[in-house]
Amino acid sequence: MFPRKGGWISDPQFMEVMKSSEMLAHGLGKPVEDASTTFEVPQDGEYRLWVRTKNWTAYWTENSVPGKFRIIIDGTDTGTVFGTGSAEWHWQKGNIITLEKGFHTLAVHDLDGFDARFDSIFLNMDDHEPGDIEELRRSLLPGAAVPEEKGNFDFIVVGGGVAGMCAAIAAARLGSKVAIIQDRKVFGGNNSSEVRVGLGGRLNIGRYPSLGYLMNEFGPARKGNARTADVYEDEKKAEAVNSEKNITAFTGYRVTAVEKDDEGRINAVIATQVDDYTEIRLHAPLYSDCTGDATLGVLAGAKWAMGRESRDVYKEPSAPEKADGITLGASIQWYSEPAGEPQSFPDITWGIPIDEETVQNVRRGQWYWEVGMKDDMIYEAEKIRDYGMYVAYSNWSYLKNHSRFKDEVACEKFAWLSFYAGKRESRRLFGDHVLTENDLRGFVQYPDGCVSTSWYIDDHEPDPDNAARFKDPWLSRGCLTPLDFYPIPFRCLYNRDVPNLFMAGRDISVSHLALGTVRVMRTCAMEGEVVGMAADICRRKGCLPRDIYNKHFDSLKTLMEKGVGDQTKPYLQVYTLIDTTAERSENC
Ligand SMILES: Cc1cc2nc3c(=O)[nH]c(=O)nc-3n(C[C@H](O)[C@H](O)[C@H](O)COP(=O)(O)OP(=O)(O)OC[C@H]3O[C@@H](n4cnc5c(N)ncnc54)[C@H](O)[C@@H]3O)c2cc1C
Repeated sequence: MFPRKGGWISDPQFMEVMKSSEMLAHGLGKPVEDASTTFEVPQDGEYRLWVRTKNWTAYWTENSVPGKFRIIIDGTDTGTVFGTGSAEWHWQKGNIITLEKGFHTLAVHDLDGFDARFDSIFLNMDDHEPGDIEELRRSLLPGAAVPEEKGNFDFIVVGGGVAGMCAAIAAARLGSKVAIIQDRKVFGGNNSSEVRVGLGGRLNIGRYPSLGYLMNEFGPARKGNARTADVYEDEKKAEAVNSEKNITAFTGYRVTAVEKDDEGRINAVIATQVDDYTEIRLHAPLYSDCTGDATLGVLAGAKWAMGRESRDVYKEPSAPEKADGITLGASIQWYSEPAGEPQSFPDITWGIPIDEETVQNVRRGQWYWEVGMKDDMIYEAEKIRDYGMYVAYSNWSYLKNHSRFKDEVACEKFAWLSFYAGKRESRRLFGDHVLTENDLRGFVQYPDGCVSTSWYIDDHEPDPDNAARFKDPWLSRGCLTPLDFYPIPFRCLYNRDVPNLFMAGRDISVSHLALGTVRVMRTCAMEGEVVGMAADICRRKGCLPRDIYNKHFDSLKTLMEKGVGDQTKPYLQVYTLIDTTAERSENC
């Protein structure tokens, strides 16, 4: 653990795969301040230094490696450059260090500001390479092996994006005792200042126009992607959750395991603190998966889908003949700012080759800077994020140092690049109904239609010019299918395999094509609002999510007609109209 992180960031987004948070030196090309800590050794002796790290650009280049760092013990460099070697996480061997029994200082010194990373530093006397990181942690950190009990709740929401926030607040306002578990330290998911995606879609529409006032209470008053942090109003979101007396919020905790009963219901979740790996256990009769990635459902053994279904699965006219793993890509957004005086940026030798034809003379990496459509959004998520950063650095370095536009950008500072991959699609869970393109285009009405869509089917594909020039394309374009506002069946919001699990957000029960409309955040938020209402009805009636559809839909209707939002609050929504040309603009 690093009590003094300096300029290093603790990043938990890849924990499902790498089993740790990583410490990241995200200095945008300027070395970050050292992280430092103290440690104790039990006896005098010779200790081998090991660091778990990776060489993040090794997938794409053999040229001089960025992301290098050194380890300083008691003020002396230990003599190894770390962050080199394999592209996969591995234990990199350092030198043997002579240490006396007692306390010592350790600092991690970034060398280039280009995303050096590590998750663990280990010293041993027997010179054996340390093994599996989880086993090692469990054997060495007592808090990581015995979860602390955090009590019983009526409803546990996992994931604190806009869908999870609305699910938690709605249930809490109706009287449920709620826990919300969010792995990052701020709420809002893609709409937080970490990812910076503006809210899309509309609130207060369709069959139940009172749905959406809840999101209006904490949604930012300004719109736009990749703007300055203040636009996303993180504090307002935190206040919205923290001011609810019935909510206990666990931020900085990631759900990593579940416990189930004999009937396949979840009866507890285990969450891991993302910095010190201590564990907590929480119990409830009802849960909602609002993780985006369907992590809770997958941990509970629910079936899931990812990628495009073949046409014969749902008979969707726009589906490909053969299924493939293609998803909507992830975006690593960025922007530059005018600084009023000349600004330098390293002339990198390790980037993707950019030339006068491919260089993008822009000041903002918008939604269409999109990567990873053909990759696995879960297991290759770090590589996808890294590729997004790699192309952004490569383009900016060429633009600034070589391009015909270099005088135009001389005083521009590369000011922000998200280290969070903004994901649009990964795993989708199954409910008792799977919403498809046919439902949407045929406007098929179901009695349990609830939240209304308000976006076109907005599928994406690689930009053809970019794809012709790069093996892994990094620019995309939208393919829009017009739609009427459509009421999503409630049966898409609870899980067919795990009886006490709801879903809200981008992991609900829809086909790849239908995700193209339901995924926008105002729609996700209203899904959360309905799920929170349904969870509270389950508490009062002592029933399960499916029973709401079968027996208690009238109770849900009554709540949906009212909504749980405060209708007296100023209406702050600034709606972005769908650009029906799907034009790529820096300013959307
Ligand atoms: C670049 C880009 C542009 C987009 N454009 C728009 C747009 O213009 N308008 C629009 O409305 N939508 C847009 N979208 C889509 C939209 O942002 C997503 O579909 C939406 O954020 C999904 O909401 P969610 O709550 O399901 O997931 P998220 O916003 O991803 O929130 C999920 C939260 O759960 C947390 N979490 C995940 N796993 C765990 C776990 N195991 N334990 C605890 N917490 C966990 C995550 O950290 C995250 O904070 C865009 C997306 C991108 C990336």
